[in-house]
Amino acid sequence: MEKSNGLRVVLFPLPIQGCINPMFQLAKILHSRGFSITVIHTRFNAPKASNHPLYTFLEIPDGLSEAEASTQDVTLLLTLLNRSCESPFRDCLTKLLRSSEEEKQRISCLIDDAGWIFTQPLAWSLNLPRLVTNTYKVSFFVGHFVIPELSRERYLPLQEQDEPAEEFPPLKKKDLLQILDGETEVLNSYSDMILQTTKASSGLIFVSSCEELDQESLSQARKDYQIPVFAIGPSHIYFPGSSSSLFTVDETCIQWLDKQEDNSVIYVSFGSVVNISETELLEIAWGLRNSDQPFLWVVRVGMVNGNKWVEAIPEELMERLKEKGKIVKWAPQQEVLKHRATGGFLTHNGWNSTVESVCEGVPMICVPSVWDQLLNARFVSDVWMVGLHLEGRIERNEIERVVRKLLLEPEGEVIRERMKLLAEKVGRSVKQNGSAYRSLERLVDHISSF
Ligand code: UDP
Repeated sequence: MEKSNGLRVVLFPLPIQGCINPMFQLAKILHSRGFSITVIHTRFNAPKASNHPLYTFLEIPDGLSEAEASTQDVTLLLTLLNRSCESPFRDCLTKLLRSSEEEKQRISCLIDDAGWIFTQPLAWSLNLPRLVTNTYKVSFFVGHFVIPELSRERYLPLQEQDEPAEEFPPLKKKDLLQILDGETEVLNSYSDMILQTTKASSGLIFVSSCEELDQESLSQARKDYQIPVFAIGPSHIYFPGSSSSLFTVDETCIQWLDKQEDNSVIYVSFGSVVNISETELLEIAWGLRNSDQPFLWVVRVGMVNGNKWVEAIPEELMERLKEKGKIVKWAPQQEVLKHRATGGFLTHNGWNSTVESVCEGVPMICVPSVWDQLLNARFVSDVWMVGLHLEGRIERNEIERVVRKLLLEPEGEVIRERMKLLAEKVGRSVKQNGSAYRSLERLVDHISSF
């Protein structure tokens, strides 16, 4: 770590895995640049303070009941959190500002996720600059505010479903329809608040993107929001292997991978939120087994609707799966993707997973199900052409076909080569004088200037 610069920043991550990891990566980066770090966090999904002994942690109550805390509806969860955390957060931050004044240590700013919508007016009233982080792909963040204005009927004609959706490229009409199907009044007004509070902030930080992945959308964001915009990522490369997992990581994955041949394994994971049906579980299981390729498959506890874990897989099939693969509850994903044996990633295309795969040069098989995943998947398959798209067909024959194509056929080799080039380009962005590195320098100067 550089010598302390006497400045402290306060971080307030949204308590979901896809936001916690990037926020702690940002914490590590800023700490290495001399900033002291205070993390205010909810009791729900509290980060493990013992993993970060150099930061100060302050917990606030979040008022969630057990049922609310286990909801699968992310919008509902986030709106509940925004309602119940406002008052405890205000108390906590006010106390912190008071004590830092007494101790004569300056708090330069609050950095929190765009999804916290009550913090902007609060920071304003306390005269504390607020910077907003965002973990989406920039093009999704910039583009998705148009969604409430779109009419579903326009995308309905079935014969046109594979055509581009002009209002939101590179989505196809069927993707946009899927996004619109998940649209609700609550989500629309939540998105609108995100837009208003982001525009009123002192800066927007994309922690998991860079010019190489999002150039046009970054220019658009700078034009639309008129605030400083930083793209400092993929930030996990600055401190590899430092994920802040809320789940218990199964470290035996790596020993198992060590026994496999180079580029032979298909890694399968749908992130921390997506659930699948029992039928989909079985189709994936058969598809993987029939592909006859080794696989490492993450099935979270409770991820299969109506099941505890993988008990829906009949014993006989389970025995056959074990001949070729390994099923775990949570993997050290970044290490898995880095491993020489990993040859492909069957993914839900959450943005973190997508970027982690790009950085390690691992081509993907895209199985997006909701929201930004649909856009990320189109970039992977149609724009960068570094993966294959399942087009929603979670069927054993399709899975077998694409796994074999990616790992064994010449087309897979071409995709892998393209992915290598993209990985190199993105890797250069965080090196000295790369675009993300320069953006980070500007961010550090910006925070220091408050
Ligand atoms: N992840 C992990 N182990 C797993 C599955 C996922 O460490 O077994 C991490 C992954 O590296 C990524 C995050 O969880 O950083 C998932 O974020 P993403 O945006 O891909 O998806 P989300 O969980 O938000 O849907």
